[in-house]
Amino acid sequence: MFRSCAVADATFQEILLDAGAEAGPGARAARGARLPSFLGAQGVPDAVLDALRVAVIGLGSVGRNIALHLARLMIASLWLVDPGRFKAESLLTQPIGPADVAEPKASNAGRLCKQISPRTRVFALDGPVQSLNALALADADVVLLATDNLAAEVDVGQRCLHLARPLAQASVHGATLLAQVRLFANRDASGPCPACLFGPLEWGHLNRETTFSCQGAGHDGTVGRVAAPPTMSTSFLCALAADLALVQVCRHLLRLGAPVADTLVEYCGYTHRVVTSPLVRNANCPCDHQRWNELPAPRPLGDCSLRDLAAAAGFSGPAGLSFNAADLTYAEQGACNSCGLLQPLRRLVAVEQPRPGRCHTCGSPVLPHPFYSYRPIPAGVALPVWQQPLGQLGEQPPAWVVVGGEGRAVLFRQPASGKESMA
Ligand SMILES: [Zn+2]
Ligand SMILES: [Zn+2]
Repeated sequence: MFRSCAVADATFQEILLDAGAEAGPGARAARGARLPSFLGAQGVPDAVLDALRVAVIGLGSVGRNIALHLARLMIASLWLVDPGRFKAESLLTQPIGPADVAEPKASNAGRLCKQISPRTRVFALDGPVQSLNALALADADVVLLATDNLAAEVDVGQRCLHLARPLAQASVHGATLLAQVRLFANRDASGPCPACLFGPLEWGHLNRETTFSCQGAGHDGTVGRVAAPPTMSTSFLCALAADLALVQVCRHLLRLGAPVADTLVEYCGYTHRVVTSPLVRNANCPCDHQRWNELPAPRPLGDCSLRDLAAAAGFSGPAGLSFNAADLTYAEQGACNSCGLLQPLRRLVAVEQPRPGRCHTCGSPVLPHPFYSYRPIPAGVALPVWQQPLGQLGEQPPAWVVVGGEGRAVLFRQPASGKESMA
């Protein structure tokens, strides 16, 4: 349903303090100066927050408040993603000033977060979350989602399912003074995801409006975006949703009170009622709820063949398997630029700049043919190269490979580059 576009993966930019910005005398307090001793806390909240790494998807009126809260908790790392820029109307709902109008939302919030908490490593992507590779959020301990973009919701839900990362989704309904937070624990395939809760209305909207543009993707925010009307709300309701989201995330991470995994909490300003209810998986959800279980690769990935990885993942043969090789596409056949002859390529190529082969007949460049390019790669298509080391199939081996089949999936990461995936 959601085909991937042939675009290069976007990357985060780290936000650094301007030289001398940290020098103010006595400007920095320690977190402990205000952090309460939470009743019944298990473990040491300070230690959890010291190590905490969080991704925030959507830096609008709800997400910006979430990011600022996290900065004030002085967590370890913060990844911020939003393709948008502030408009004049943003002043009505978001904690920004007039000077921020026209600024990109993610990096603007990132700079403020970095100033509030210099110890936090802050990364920003001023682009759509769909432009990140599938492992880009792998190092986050929890993901917060605050977007009214349905395609982004599905995408983030899917990533968190694969990576088994808890996901907190905050939203508002202005006309009914409603603030809502859903917390998806993503412990295994039996739990719910955001798309599980979609009704025919959402799916209809998503399928009608989603545009899959392959031009300029990652820069202009057009990848799989749904044109949605702006959220009509007030700044206080948006802030309330952000506050509720942080309460739920802190409860989940610090294990405060009764478990909040796979629950929804909703405050309605008209009735002053708070409703909590369980979230359950929809058996008809079209998302792949399969968790990717990570195993160590038997050798550097460039020295492993597809057969080696299938065996290391515990599969007996290629039947029914498929492979995700990071941002690489398997080009089974290509077409000659000049004579048009279709011929085998059997290479892993980077979609952005595939290095062409040479035509058997006229020697001109042969480029991958879209009808014979695969991402993910069905094992049946890749049988001719089944035993060939991945390093021999392309310019460079993939940074990670997921082998899927028989209702389970195994992730192998290139050992040296594993922890750099988000930087
Ligand atoms: Zn689902
Ligand atoms: Zn030719």
